[in-house]
Amino acid sequence: MLVRNFIFWLSTKRGVTDTIARRGMKHGFARRFVAGETLGEALTASRELCDAGRNVSLNHLGENVSTEAAAREVCASYIEMIEAMDAQKLGGNISIKLTQLGLDISKGLCGELAGQIARRARTLGRTIEMDMEGSAYTDVTLDIFEAVQRESGNSGLAIQAYLHRTEKDLQRLAALKPKIRLVKGAYREPKKIAVQGKAAVDANYKRMTTLLLEGAAQGMFLPAIASHDPFMVAHAQAEVARLKLRREQYEFQMIYGIRRDLQQEVHAAGHTLQVYVPFGTDWCPYFMRRLSERPANCWFVLRSLWAEGGAASERAA
Ligand SMILES: Cc1cc2nc3c(=O)[nH]c(=O)nc-3n(C[C@H](O)[C@H](O)[C@H](O)COP(=O)(O)OP(=O)(O)OC[C@H]3O[C@@H](n4cnc5c(N)ncnc54)[C@H](O)[C@@H]3O)c2cc1C
Repeated sequence: MLVRNFIFWLSTKRGVTDTIARRGMKHGFARRFVAGETLGEALTASRELCDAGRNVSLNHLGENVSTEAAAREVCASYIEMIEAMDAQKLGGNISIKLTQLGLDISKGLCGELAGQIARRARTLGRTIEMDMEGSAYTDVTLDIFEAVQRESGNSGLAIQAYLHRTEKDLQRLAALKPKIRLVKGAYREPKKIAVQGKAAVDANYKRMTTLLLEGAAQGMFLPAIASHDPFMVAHAQAEVARLKLRREQYEFQMIYGIRRDLQQEVHAAGHTLQVYVPFGTDWCPYFMRRLSERPANCWFVLRSLWAEGGAASERAA
C-alpha cells in the first residue's frame, strides 16, 4: 500500500510525469500497456490481437474536458474510431468515458453526444461500452446509460463490484438486457461507498459474477468478466460450466499488456476474450495507474531508463 501511495504521489509531480511522457514511447516501456499515441498504431495492435482470435475494445485515453468544443471533438474522434474498426473489419467495439464527453459541463450535452456515438455504431451493426468512473459520477452515468440503451440497444456499461450499491444497480438495469462489464473498481472510495480490502472486494466480485451469469442463463444480461485475477476467472469459469452457458452468453475481458499468460489460457480454453486497447497522447496518468496496481511493473520502467542512461554515457564517452 505504501508503494502504491508513493506511485500515486509521484503521478502528481509534473517533473516525473513529464520525464515519463518524454521517454516512455520513445524507449518502449509505455508500449507494454499503451498501444500507441495514434489511432493508426492502435489499429495495428488491434489487428494482431484479432488475428490471434481476440476481440478488442478501443479506448482513446484522456479524462475530463472542460469545454463543449473539446467534448464535441472527442465525440467525433470516437465516431472515427468505430468507423475505422468497421472499415478494417476488426471484431469488438469502443469504450467511451462520459467525462471526456462533457459530463462536467452538462448532463444534456453528454447524453446527446453519447447517443450520437451509439446511433452511429448501431448503423454499422456495432456496439459501444461505457467506462464507469469515480462514485461522484455513478448516478448520472446510470441515467445516461439507460437513456442511450433504451434508444439504441447496443450499449454496455462497466459496473464496479466494490460499491455497496452495485446489486441494486444491477436489479435496476436488468430490464434493459444490457452487456455488463464487471470490474472490481479502480478508484479510491471511502468506506461509506465501497467495501474496503482485497478479500471483501473479491467476495463481492464473486457474488456479482454469479448473479450476472445466472442472469445470463435467463437472457437478462450479457456479462463480461473483466479481471486479471486468476481466482475471479476460475470462479467465473466454474459458474459458466455449472450453468451450461453457451459461448455467446458471456465473455472475459482483460487490459492490453496485463497478464498476457492468463489471456492466452482463457482464449485457449475456448472462451470469448475482449482486450481493452488504450491509445492516445494523454497516456501518462493511465500508465501510472497500471504501475501503481502492481509496483513490480516499475522495475521494467527503471530497467529501461537505466539502459537509456548507459547508452547516453557511452555516447558521451
Ligand atoms: C477490461 C477492463 C476494463 C476496466 N474498466 C474499468 C472501468 O470502467 N472502471 C473502473 O473503475 N475500473 C475498470 N477496470 C479496472 C478494474 O476496476 C481493476 O482496477 C483492475 O482490473 C485490477 O483488478 P483485477 O480484477 O485485475 O484484480 P487485482 O486483484 O487488482 O489483480 C489480480 C492480479 O492481476 C494482475 N494484475 C492486476 N493489475 C495488474 C497490472 N497493472 N500489471 C500487471 N499485473 C496486474 C496481478 O497478477 C494481480 O495479482 C477495468 C478492468 C478491465 C480488465
